[in-house]
Amino acid sequence: MHWVGTLPAFEAHPDFSVLIDQDQPVRLLTTILEKGTIPHALLFAGVKGVGKLTAAVIFAMACNCLGKDPGPVTDGDKRFQAGGTQPGSAEPCGRCRSCRKILSGNHPDIIFVQPSGNYIKIDQIRSLRSTLAMKPYEAGIRVVLISSSHTMNKPAGNALLKVLEEPPDQTIFILIVERVSELLPTIVSRCQHIRFNPVSREHIGAYLSEKFQFDTDTAMVLASVAKGSLIRALQISNSYGGQEDWMKMRSWLINEIDTLPSKPVGLVLAFAERLSKKKDILSDSLEIIKSYFRDLIVCRYSTEKIINRDFIDRIQHGSQKFSLNSLIKKIEEVESVLQKIPTNVNLRLSLEVMLMRLART
Ligand SMILES: [Zn+2]
Repeated sequence: MHWVGTLPAFEAHPDFSVLIDQDQPVRLLTTILEKGTIPHALLFAGVKGVGKLTAAVIFAMACNCLGKDPGPVTDGDKRFQAGGTQPGSAEPCGRCRSCRKILSGNHPDIIFVQPSGNYIKIDQIRSLRSTLAMKPYEAGIRVVLISSSHTMNKPAGNALLKVLEEPPDQTIFILIVERVSELLPTIVSRCQHIRFNPVSREHIGAYLSEKFQFDTDTAMVLASVAKGSLIRALQISNSYGGQEDWMKMRSWLINEIDTLPSKPVGLVLAFAERLSKKKDILSDSLEIIKSYFRDLIVCRYSTEKIINRDFIDRIQHGSQKFSLNSLIKKIEEVESVLQKIPTNVNLRLSLEVMLMRLART
């Protein structure tokens, strides 16, 4: 199926305040809405799971909200003209006809494009183009959301570029991507950029505790491993089968790493084999190992900053076994295997070499 359709439904009415650590992008978006200068294309860039799609939906609602201070309505219900100006309120009401349709995923003029399989294909862009050739059904501003837009292959990218070069009336494109460098530069140059930030460790931890009842220690450790992504933190926990299993796995890993220097070579190699077999969670496992060595360094300066707090005694003890230099080198060893994971080349061997080096005191 070529996925050009409407958005999935939202459970609750989101406004810009639900976004965490995104002051700058929210400021840029609200300025656009307040001034009423809606550009033809926006590019939302930043790591996965920080609220880019949510922001896009709120923005689409705000562009078309009829409820709160709609201003002088001269052309039917339309508030804005894309590329034109009409100042308005930045927060959507969440209650009017337009907001409700967008929230329930039933607005015909909010068009959602996402990969069909691994790619966004040219057929999807063609189908999008024929939709855009018609006038919007009811929206003042039609919004085209292109999620994972880096998955557009070249023909699809070129087809989209043609659309962006002659943008249809009353239409704004919002392209969502992790790294701008993954898009065709000619597409990038046609968009106004909005950069989203990784979410801070403290805020991810608090989010996990409040919304999903994680205990505080688990939440903080997961937050450190998730590298700024709320969704990633939840995915990691789910991929282990929930927070308890994740904590068990982490304890096992730290235990293995902590006792490495005293292990016979055979056991070190067996550990490498076990790690290499759990490929889907390998990068998370290596992040945990990295966090352990990082803790061995930071505990010398401030025990407050230790991530794996429940292992504080071992960490303080382990820290004395290694020089600062050798700890930095160990972190680099883990880092270099992490980078090799996507290439999938000789992972087992790389893990063996890494563990043998980590075992040295
Ligand atoms: Zn509304």
